[in-house]
Amino acid sequence: MTAETAGKYDFEVGMYRPPSEGGSHSLLLRFTRNCPWNKCTFCAMYKHEKFSMRPVAEIKGDIDAIGAMIKDMQALSWKLGHAGQIQRDVIIAMIEQDPDLNTNHGFSMVLDWLSSGGKTAFLQDGNSLMMATDNLVEVLTHLRNTFPSIERVTTYARSKTLARKPQAELTAICKAGLDRLHVGLESGDDALLKKIKKGVSGEEHIKGGKNALAAGFQLSEYWMPGLGGKEDWENHARNTALVLNQINPHYIRSRPFYPFPGTPIHAAQQQGALTLLSPQETLMELKLLIETLDVTSKVCFDHAGNSWVNRSGRLLFSQSYEGYQFPDDKQRVLHLIEEGIEAQPGKSGSRRFRIIP
Ligand code: SF4
Repeated sequence: MTAETAGKYDFEVGMYRPPSEGGSHSLLLRFTRNCPWNKCTFCAMYKHEKFSMRPVAEIKGDIDAIGAMIKDMQALSWKLGHAGQIQRDVIIAMIEQDPDLNTNHGFSMVLDWLSSGGKTAFLQDGNSLMMATDNLVEVLTHLRNTFPSIERVTTYARSKTLARKPQAELTAICKAGLDRLHVGLESGDDALLKKIKKGVSGEEHIKGGKNALAAGFQLSEYWMPGLGGKEDWENHARNTALVLNQINPHYIRSRPFYPFPGTPIHAAQQQGALTLLSPQETLMELKLLIETLDVTSKVCFDHAGNSWVNRSGRLLFSQSYEGYQFPDDKQRVLHLIEEGIEAQPGKSGSRRFRIIP
């Protein structure tokens, strides 16, 4: 490391992003730290640190550090005769110039982003819309101006915040360059939402979702098959579908429930207050939800937890980030569910893969 490069490429990277953002090799930018709610009983994320806002200057500094890193790599590329292309020897030359890059997690993330065309960015952590609207607009504008190759910017958001934030502010944020929101709906059933301490009702999910759509965002809603266990599966499936019908988001994504050790819901399960569904039972719950859905959304099974198998022992559903287009593919999904119900091992709670949050 030289005196000029010391600290020049430092920027924060958070831990989590949705599977679809990994698949599109998104640039990860930490706008806030951790989750401002942090009470959901099933959630194992952001447990060791409290939520905090990051100052605008700090976030812009991170964007500038990434910009400087790219500019320096391009300069090295020209020097080495690669006309600005980031080849292997350019990366090696960068590391020779600043050996700290060898262990800089952000460096490999930026390389991954560049190699996929630098088209998408994901704003971490749990709820970027907690930022004051002016601040969020300012950093989004800076991001878009610094990296004009970016075609899509996405982030996590809570329904509660979307339901509360003035419509004009949501529209301004969307216009400043935030395109897509990933919202953890989990369930549309009020009793279950209360039980899992989601801090939001079905009505608030609907209001938040509708506000997001009216502001112009692409909306991606995650729900959790199996979350209610044997005790609540029917209300969970039916009321989740009814809430999703009201919202009609662009994407509905399945993230099956898994009780992570250390979470309150895991303790409840250990004490017998929650009985896990078997893979077949979870598919029966899924069947009721899909039958009740009346949407024009894309229904996706792109999370690793969607590990049900078909008759050949392969994955039952496509794990495409674009999923199945409803209503056209509804019957197809129902046929797959029927096949899956016959093909699954029946042991309660058994799964082929460990689920990643
Ligand atoms: S599920 Fe989302 S809102 Fe709930 S505690 Fe976890 S990160 Fe926060």
